[in-house]
Amino acid sequence: MKKVAIIAQTKEGQLSDASKQLISYLSSFKPESIFIVALGEVKFSSIAASSSVDVVHLSDGLWCDTATVQPLVSALDGYSVFGIKSIQVDNLLSLLASISSNEFVSGIQQLQYVSGSYSINKSIFSGKASLSLKTQTASYFSFNRNFDFSGNAEFAEQPIKSSSTLTPGSASKSTIKSLKPITGSIPLPDASLVVGAGRGLKDPGNWTIVEDLAKALGAATACSKPVSDLNWRPHHEHVGQTGVKISPNLYIACGISGAIQHLAGVNGSRVVVVINNDPEAPFFKHADYGIVGDVNDILPRLTKKLQSH
Ligand SMILES: Cc1cc2nc3c(=O)[nH]c(=O)nc-3n(C[C@H](O)[C@H](O)[C@H](O)COP(=O)(O)OP(=O)(O)OC[C@H]3O[C@@H](n4cnc5c(N)ncnc54)[C@H](O)[C@@H]3O)c2cc1C
Repeated sequence: MKKVAIIAQTKEGQLSDASKQLISYLSSFKPESIFIVALGEVKFSSIAASSSVDVVHLSDGLWCDTATVQPLVSALDGYSVFGIKSIQVDNLLSLLASISSNEFVSGIQQLQYVSGSYSINKSIFSGKASLSLKTQTASYFSFNRNFDFSGNAEFAEQPIKSSSTLTPGSASKSTIKSLKPITGSIPLPDASLVVGAGRGLKDPGNWTIVEDLAKALGAATACSKPVSDLNWRPHHEHVGQTGVKISPNLYIACGISGAIQHLAGVNGSRVVVVINNDPEAPFFKHADYGIVGDVNDILPRLTKKLQSH
């Protein structure tokens, strides 16, 4: 990899931990230059990386505006561009790839780079099959959220060589009228631990046992579709075919039957634990660990155990 560009997420002006891991992982290929496209505010002045770094800052919400991102296409010419899969990142990468008539490969689970070509493994058909492909032409890539970036060398902090901000182009057709970040909870697509609950909880008032377990673990909360349709939980927590796709290291599914539409959003999880009082619940077939029992009994016991450690 000669020139590497990275779509990086920021939080309160700092690089997210996942973005730092991605930069460190790609630095281990010793690229001659690194170009960061930072989504969100930039308050950092150096980055741990193998070589000098240029940064361009793209304001929140403008990643879907063709006229605004247009100048990035020429700036990224000759770069291999990487991000970590999320709706926002995949949207931007596919937009850039289509403007530049390049290929985009999303959801990489394994990657090898040998003599100018990439060998890639990824899952397809909602995890029902895996695909191996070799490409010399693709320039835009997103890694699956649970890609293992660990085990790479630590790099010294490099001062940022140049920093600029991409503002909406005059031809821009989009105007951000307001942006209200959801605060106080871990965003689901970024979460490495998720506790999800379904109709088995019976009543929105029973969600305290789910929230207590999530808090004890430092996890995000999720739900099945009927739960958000019933307004028991907000719609941004709904995971599945028609909701958010998650790929945490651990997903604990509580009182969820395991319908195929729900599985389509969670089968990127590394380890799945299912808690259900019906031993025949379909979800058990897709679980790494299963607990047959009542959520009202099991969840408080798990929380208590975690709190005592
Ligand atoms: C086009 C389409 C798209 C859809 N998209 C989605 C989607 O994106 N996401 C999604 O989730 N669904 C989606 N669905 C709905 C999906 O088919 C299921 O209906 C839904 O996932 C079921 O939700 P649930 O498991 O919470 O509820 P239920 O099917 O009612 O299951 C509740 C489970 O809780 C268990 N339970 C009950 N009491 C307890 C207890 N005390 N302790 C422990 N366990 C208990 C039961 O044994 C049962 O397994 C979609 C459906 C369609 C048709």
